[in-house]
Order: sequence, then C-alpha cells, then structure tokens
Amino acid sequence: MSLLAVRNLTKRFGGNTAVDDISFDLEAGELLALIGPNGAGKSTTFNMMGGQLPASSGSVRFDGRELLGMPSRRIAHQGIGRTFQIAATFASFTVLENVQMALLSHHRQVYSFWRPAIGRHRDEALRLLEQVGMGSQAGRPCSELAYGDVKRVELAMSLAGKPRLLLMDEPTAGMAPAERNALVALVKSLVLQNDMAVLFTEHSMDVVFAYADRIIVLARGQLIAQGSAQQIRAHPKVQEVYFGT
Ligand code: ADP
Ligand code: MG
Repeated sequence: MSLLAVRNLTKRFGGNTAVDDISFDLEAGELLALIGPNGAGKSTTFNMMGGQLPASSGSVRFDGRELLGMPSRRIAHQGIGRTFQIAATFASFTVLENVQMALLSHHRQVYSFWRPAIGRHRDEALRLLEQVGMGSQAGRPCSELAYGDVKRVELAMSLAGKPRLLLMDEPTAGMAPAERNALVALVKSLVLQNDMAVLFTEHSMDVVFAYADRIIVLARGQLIAQGSAQQIRAHPKVQEVYFGT
C-alpha cells in the first residue's frame, strides 16, 4: 500500500473544473514533483490535500485513512506538514525561538509569545537548525535574514512537526536560480535522512529534473503525464504544453 493514494480527485469552482479527476500515488521516502503551467490546478490540489479547501469529489488516503472531510489541524496531526508561499516566521524573534515555538505547537504545549515559555526544546530546535544549515545563525532575529535563509528556518519549523509527508507549494518562489537549487537539494537530503516523503511544486524544470524522484504533470486540471525525468522530458503531451510543439 502506498503512503498516499489520491483517487479521482476533483474540484469545481462554478463551471470551472480546476482539478479534473486526478489519481496518483506517493510512496514513503519519495520526492515527488507536481508541475504544470499557471492555473493548472497545483495549489488547488495542495489545498484539498491539506484540508484548506473541500473537494468536489474523490478520495485522498494517507496510510489508508481518508483525509477528505478532515479539518486541516487534524490532517496535520496525521503527520502531514505544509509550507506556504508567504513567510510564516515571526520577524522579531530569533531563528532558534521560531523553531522552539514550532516545537511547542507540535507538542500541543501553550503556544506563547512569553519568552521564558519559548525556551523549551532548545536542543531539539538546534538539531533541526543544524539539519537545514542554520545552526550558526540560531541567535539572529529572523528580520535580519536573507530570503533564502528564512525559507530554511521555515523548513526547520515544518520538520518540528515530524511530518511523514511534507507538502510544499512553490517553496522556491522569489528565489534566484542558485538559491532554488540549494533549497531543493536540501529538501532532497532531508527526505533521505528523515524517512519522509515530499510533494512539491517548482517552476524550474532544471531543478525538477535534477532532484525529483518522479514527476506528475497537470494541465488545465488534468493529469497528462507521470514518470521519471527521462520519461517526462520525452513525453509528447508535456512537450505540447510546455513548448507548443
Ligand atoms: P496553479 O497553482 O497550478 O497555478 P490553481 O490551483 O491556483 O493553479 O488554479 C487552478 C484553477 O482554479 C485556475 O483556473 C484558478 O483561476 C481557479 N481557482 C483557484 N482558486 C479558486 C477559487 N478560490 N475560486 C475560484 N476559482 C479558483
Ligand atoms: Mg499555485
């Protein structure tokens, strides 16, 4: 049985079918890329899986359990983490404090802005920051960080929830090409180290082809291809969508 099984997932907005009867699987330990032109239905798919948006029909089973219909908080507690495009860090708090707050939240302890309460889970927070290459910046306020480093802190915060599956919608949005590469390379190494699966969207085909274990292509809500980088590169429908040939 696969870790995640999406079957006939559909979302209609009035007369517009944003996600049209898509089915795919995701295995434990896999880095799976969801690609497609703007408006293809990628974010809508993430939002249904994360419980932010109700599906029109279909099924999303995680470890055999149906996620559709669950509130987003309960989905998170199944072991599904989510990163968002907008920065989720608290600028005036340090890098370390932000990760400590994420750990407090995961342990369902009082989520407090009172600094002494934040001071728990220090070792665990430092360990997570080491994993994302931010150990040396633990004491800096997030407001001082470069954009790419904020993204690394957010990643450490997502790991605080010990996700078995991490959903990342455009994690490299707004980044320069070198930063994009570095972030996705980091995500790939975390997948290998943490026995975690990741579903992510990414605009750069170079990055997707370099790091994804498998690729799913959406166009106008439909799943038009899935397979390895080699298979996707050569796929006639993908060429049509991306290159108009
Ligand atoms: P992508 O993330 O692949 O760029 P989206 O999932 O954001 O695509 O959008 C897919 C389609 O659904 C688009 O046609 C978009 O206009 C439409 N859509 C997305 N969200 C809504 C919404 N809340 N209400 C109505 N239409 C929406
Ligand atoms: Mg989107």
